[in-house]
Amino acid sequence: MNLSDKLSETLRVDESHTKALTRLGVTTVRDLFYHFPARYDDLSGATQTGSLAKGQKVTLYGTISKAKVSKGWKSKIPMAQATINTVSGKVKAVWFHQPYIAKMFPEGATVKVEGTISERSGEFYLSNPAITHASVIPDETDSLFVQEDGDEHGEPTAGTLFPVYPESRGVTSRWIYYAIKKLIKGGALATASSGVPPEAGKQIVDPLPADVLKRLNLPSLGTALVWIHAPENNKDADAARKRFAFEEIFFIQLKKQQERHMTDSLPTWDIRPTKESVDGFLSKFPFKPTSAQSKALEDIFADFAGTRAMSRLLEGDVGSGKTFVAAATSFAVVTTRPPKMVQSGPAFPKKSDLQKMAQVADGKQDFGNLQVALMAPTEILATQHFESFVELYRGLPINVALITSSGCKKFPSKLNPNGWTNISRSQLLKWVANGEIPILIGTHALIQKTVEWKHLAYIIIDEQHRFGTKQRAALARKDKNLPHLLSMTATPIPRTLALTIYGDLDLTLLDVMPPGRKPIITKNVPPSGRKEVYEHLRQELEAGRQAYVICPRIDAPDETDEMALQAKSVEEEAKRLAREVFPEFSVGVLHGKMKSEKKEDMMKAFTEGSIKILVATSVVEVGVNVPNATIILIEGAERFGLSQLHQLRGRVLRSNHQAYCYLFTESKSQPTLDRLKALTKAANGFELAEHDLMLRGSGDLSGKKQWGVSDIGMEALKNLKLVEAARAEAKRIVESDVFLKKYPELQKALAERGEVHFE
Ligand code: ADP
Ligand code: MG
Repeated sequence: MNLSDKLSETLRVDESHTKALTRLGVTTVRDLFYHFPARYDDLSGATQTGSLAKGQKVTLYGTISKAKVSKGWKSKIPMAQATINTVSGKVKAVWFHQPYIAKMFPEGATVKVEGTISERSGEFYLSNPAITHASVIPDETDSLFVQEDGDEHGEPTAGTLFPVYPESRGVTSRWIYYAIKKLIKGGALATASSGVPPEAGKQIVDPLPADVLKRLNLPSLGTALVWIHAPENNKDADAARKRFAFEEIFFIQLKKQQERHMTDSLPTWDIRPTKESVDGFLSKFPFKPTSAQSKALEDIFADFAGTRAMSRLLEGDVGSGKTFVAAATSFAVVTTRPPKMVQSGPAFPKKSDLQKMAQVADGKQDFGNLQVALMAPTEILATQHFESFVELYRGLPINVALITSSGCKKFPSKLNPNGWTNISRSQLLKWVANGEIPILIGTHALIQKTVEWKHLAYIIIDEQHRFGTKQRAALARKDKNLPHLLSMTATPIPRTLALTIYGDLDLTLLDVMPPGRKPIITKNVPPSGRKEVYEHLRQELEAGRQAYVICPRIDAPDETDEMALQAKSVEEEAKRLAREVFPEFSVGVLHGKMKSEKKEDMMKAFTEGSIKILVATSVVEVGVNVPNATIILIEGAERFGLSQLHQLRGRVLRSNHQAYCYLFTESKSQPTLDRLKALTKAANGFELAEHDLMLRGSGDLSGKKQWGVSDIGMEALKNLKLVEAARAEAKRIVESDVFLKKYPELQKALAERGEVHFE
């Protein structure tokens, strides 16, 4: 048996299971081994049903039968009923007001039920017990760790920890558990029957170098696989999880370090702006850079000089002044001539130089300066950047242009030196190709092959951190120098995550806000406070301001989703607000399922002020900028992560008016309320992101979708030491052996892993 063998050829798997497994991404033996439990059920805590008593607190493991929806006999309250069949007997259960439970836990489902025993007409039952999907209901000899030599009575003893896997419709934890057990017993690993953890088996080779494992005191692959799927105790399970967490982060780091090594070896532009040049630009503004901005400029200018292209991430909350940093560094680039053409180092252009540059527009000059590309994920954002640059470059004879799918613009306009003008696409392309336009801002339209550059030296990518290096590759031309890269993001992420997914980038934080901004007022609102908040919202709207209302869902809930049932939906809430609460104001809707054209129209209407209240999902999270919006209401706030709430709140941070953020929650759970409270206190997004990571359990970190990091990898990110160790080990190996020639197993495993995939 090989790890790469197809599961369907190794085990007997029927078609429906094959389908369900494929949905989970499991097709090979390796896939199944690497499908890790989300948690373990400790069956030693299970209650025996033989001796129940009224008022007794019980934890039952069993299967569901006779699940049905019904109505209370007199009260007509909708409810679910079912019988829980445990190894030692049956107990009935009812759930009032929660009829969907009957659908969520259908006939045969394996469950864990916790509650207090009630009694009626001499019969015991459970009323509204907590219910979750459970792993397996073992018989006495079910464990992989049955001690053949037995306990003190010579009876075989079984482990009591049973794995609960992330399930998909069609495969239960029980099925997975038995399949893995078969593989292990069938010799995929060394035998595990003795209760003594086996060493790595014959067929399975550990790709991690032995010295690395030893230094970090991590179990070998074979041992870790048994320990993670069928641990004898929590300590072993933890050790195994730690190993796989390390493995995942280490592999990501290896890839990132390899990528970095490659970019570092390519030729680039050596750009050395002088102090006068930079100071000259900065002195145009009525404010001084914050200490964080100054540090960022220093970092970037240091990277510009020399033989290696910059690969840097600039992370800062909305309004921390990233665009300003982008504009200042762009200025330094576009006022620099390619090294071959400069005699001495470039300096801030003197008046006479500026006049010469002004002639650029008349076509009398040779347009030899270096160029900048600034790319944003949406047309709205690209346009906003263009407008910011027009503002920041006012009075400078430097052409800045915008390219999107709906057209092209150029600043300054010949007629109005402070404004822009529409130009044709072909004209724009010509001027970019001959260097007359040194700064081009745009969407994906920017990286199309039709866009030719004269001397592209600097690429700034906004809010597309994940793709930054790829897009640079798309923009770079084979025969040219590699442009410097600055990736900007307002998405606050914890340091450990940044070190991992941006392992190929150096990091600069803009963690200081420009002075004089009014801090936003954030309040948690219990259901009873809703009316008052609506009144405040009405006052703001009457004063000419605008508002966001954020809902967790788009449309009516799927009835089987218990969580969703209580969450407000954008569509319904917009109707309700328009009809019942704010009939005098125009209400619009924005969510991810809308066609992008419709989305843009809606954003335009909101930006122009014809829509006063925008009801939206978290799609507005990224970089939408409507300065007149001063108030944001977030429904079901407990459903969002702290950093996401912080991002959403950033939408109303753009104005000079006092901004407000109201968090609605129906939750009475103290940890939830405490979590939301953190938001009313925290200084910046990074603090919140760290907080978020530590507070949220694995499984709800949505790392796979957002970052391409699995649940177990996300767990590792709670451990700075582990992440630093993974980075250091990867760096050490790559520095001496980029292509891992001395580590063939590692090389193979890395290649088989392929790219890190995002949604
Ligand atoms: P970001 O891109 O990080 O959201 P911007 O660069 O757009 O932030 O800056 C937000 C606002 O703050 C802009 O109006 C900008 O002109 C202003 N600003 C930037 N830096 C400073 C500073 N050091 N002091 C005062 N205002 C600043
Ligand atoms: Mg910005």
